[in-house]
Amino acid sequence: MSEYDTVSAEVEHEDEIPEDHPRYQDLLTRHRIEKGVEKGITHLQGMHAEGRGSAFDYLLGEKTIPSADAAERAAAAHLLLADHPVLSINGNVAALVPGEMVDLAAAVDADLEVNLFNRTPERMQAIADHLREHGATDVKGLEADASIPNLDHQRAKVDEDGIYAADVVVVPLEDGDRAEALEAMDKTEIVIDLNPLSRSPQVAEVPIVDNIIRAVPNVTDHALELADADEGDLREIVEGFDRERALEAAEERIRRGL
Ligand code: ATP
Repeated sequence: MSEYDTVSAEVEHEDEIPEDHPRYQDLLTRHRIEKGVEKGITHLQGMHAEGRGSAFDYLLGEKTIPSADAAERAAAAHLLLADHPVLSINGNVAALVPGEMVDLAAAVDADLEVNLFNRTPERMQAIADHLREHGATDVKGLEADASIPNLDHQRAKVDEDGIYAADVVVVPLEDGDRAEALEAMDKTEIVIDLNPLSRSPQVAEVPIVDNIIRAVPNVTDHALELADADEGDLREIVEGFDRERALEAAEERIRRGL
C-alpha cells in the first residue's frame, strides 16, 4: 500500500488532509489545484504544471533549502526598494496562494495583476473575484491596454499602469517565453519555480527554487522583518545575493541530494 492510500481522493475540504501525513504539502497542493480547476480559476494545463513541480519538490525534500531562503530575503529587499512592484497572478497561483499573495502585496505595497497564458474573459474575471474574496481591493490585468514586446498577441497583454510600468515583477510559475520577454524589458524579475533548469528561473535576477506555498509567506516574513531597514541595508542584501550559486545549490540538491 502506498502512503497516498491513507488519504481518500474524495477529500472535500483541505482541513480533512491530516497535517501529520508525510506528503501533507503535496496533498494540499494537489487538492487546491483540483478545486481551482473546478472553480474555473485554473486551466487543465495547470495540473500538468503542478505534477512537474511536485516531482521537483519531492527531490528537494519538500523543504525551503538555505539558498531558497536567501533568494526569498533578496526578493523581499528588491520589493521594498522598488518604485512600482507588481505581483503577477496566474491560475495556479490563484488556486494555491490567493490570500498569501494579497498579504505579500500589502507588506511591500505592490499591485496584483492577473496574467494568463490561456486567457479568457471568464477566467480573468473568476480569478479577480477569487482574489477579492481573499482580501484584494484593487486587481489589475482586466484592462490589458498595453503589450509586452516580442510576444504573440494573447500572451503579451498587460495593464499599462501595472506590469508594463513596473520596475520589479514577481512572476511565479511563469512560462519561459514571457519571462524572457519581461527580462528583455529590463525589469527586475523575481521568479518562483521548483525547476532550476526551467527557462524562467534561468533568466530571473532572483530565482526562487521553492514551492510557492512555502515561498510566498516566507518572502512576506522577510519583508515584515526588513520593513524598517534603511536603503543601504536593503541594497547590501540585494548585492550579496548570488543567483548562479542559488541555481547551482538547488540543482545539486535535486540531482545528488546534497
Ligand atoms: P519553461 O517553458 O519555463 O522552460 P515548463 O514548460 O516546464 O518550463 P511551465 O509548464 O510553463 O514550465 O510551468 C510549470 C513550472 O512551474 C514548472 O517548472 C514547475 O516546476 C513549476 N511549478 C509547478 N508547481 C509549482 C509550485 N507549487 N511551486 C513552484 N513551482 C511550481
